[in-house]
Amino acid sequence: MNIHEYQAKAVLKEFGVPVSRGVAVFKAEEAEAAARELGGPLWVVKSQIHAGGRGKGKFKELAAGDKGGVRLAKSVDEVKLNAQQMLGRTLVTLQTGPAGKQVNRLYIEEGSDIEAEFYLSALVDRVTSRVAFVVSTEGGMNIEDVAHKTPEKIKTFSVDPATGIMPHHGRTVAKALGLSGDLAKQAGKLVVSLYKAFVAKDMAMLEINPLIVTRQGELKCLDAKVSFDSNALFRHPDIVALRDETEEDAKEIEASKHDLSYIALDGTIGCMVNGAGLAMATMDIIKLYGMEPANFLDVGGGASKEKVTAAFKIITADPNVKGILVNIFGGIMRCDVIAEGVIAAVKEVGLKVPLVVRLEGTNVDLGKTIIGESGLNVIPADDLDDAAQKIVKAVKEAV
Ligand code: GDP
Ligand code: MG
Repeated sequence: MNIHEYQAKAVLKEFGVPVSRGVAVFKAEEAEAAARELGGPLWVVKSQIHAGGRGKGKFKELAAGDKGGVRLAKSVDEVKLNAQQMLGRTLVTLQTGPAGKQVNRLYIEEGSDIEAEFYLSALVDRVTSRVAFVVSTEGGMNIEDVAHKTPEKIKTFSVDPATGIMPHHGRTVAKALGLSGDLAKQAGKLVVSLYKAFVAKDMAMLEINPLIVTRQGELKCLDAKVSFDSNALFRHPDIVALRDETEEDAKEIEASKHDLSYIALDGTIGCMVNGAGLAMATMDIIKLYGMEPANFLDVGGGASKEKVTAAFKIITADPNVKGILVNIFGGIMRCDVIAEGVIAAVKEVGLKVPLVVRLEGTNVDLGKTIIGESGLNVIPADDLDDAAQKIVKAVKEAV
């Protein structure tokens, strides 16, 4: 689960992490009041969307010369003016995709005088089963580019969970960032606070870009992107309360209500599959035959007729879907149950695109008979390869 920058900063602040003072607002008048409260002389007006690259982003509705999703302001009036321009508009960044995201909240922050910008992140490294830190002097930039062009400028290390964070980790960070004296001490403290926050809140990823040194000689987190391990959310009601459903895909929210594992993708072939491995294989084979999957959808091992119906509705509600491939292996789940679910769903929501169904496993013959006798326009397939070729062909013929 992701949260907004201002929420991430509030969480980190609880652990003593240095951040700027700021106020989150929904209206331009609130922005003006917040600016007065913060006092100036410099403010930052920051779009709050669940995507990075806001500074270099562009608002769809504004002229090409507009100033992006993170703006400096030198007066209360300027804060208000920028807030008016940004609220309700659609911000397109490298991470939002071409559709962009509507800006409904802003974070008004006191402006900092930046001396240097660094990069620091922490994540769960599945290879070492530890929390790993990534540090670089190249802050404010796309870290993927730095990793590609100048990998020597990136320092990584992991923390042994048995000992936890140690003073030497702080020294490693200070050294990597070229900090000494008091700034090195601040780096040491910061790494301890970040690690504590990371573990206590079951974070999956924490990215500070940029981490800055101010002209006044303070180390500070100027941006914060945090995501949490969804499997641990049950023990963090305070974090769950920060969820902003307007930032999430409506189809994914609906799927989670039915306990379906669903991820929306950019392609045209909707997939309904049971088991994550089979779902991956199905997506791969669609790509092999030249098309792209519209989603990943795992209905689970013991899905009911209701679950299958819900899944089918979510797929057909997606306007990008030009064809559907149902690929089910009936192990725990019986093929006749799947067949009934598919038919119930088609009867309820209608079928405007080609549908290929491949069933295998328990009661497969009964399942095929049910589909065959339903009178619905369903294309049966015998195996995975056959199914993928048939749906690709059907979609090509339909357009
Ligand atoms: P992102 O573009 O979504 O990563 O948003 P950031 O919060 O990282 O802000 C983008 C850039 O705006 C930063 O890299 C800074 O260069 C600049 N910026 C943000 N806050 C301040 C500030 O308080 N003072 C100054 N001078 N620049 C800032
Ligand atoms: Mg940033």
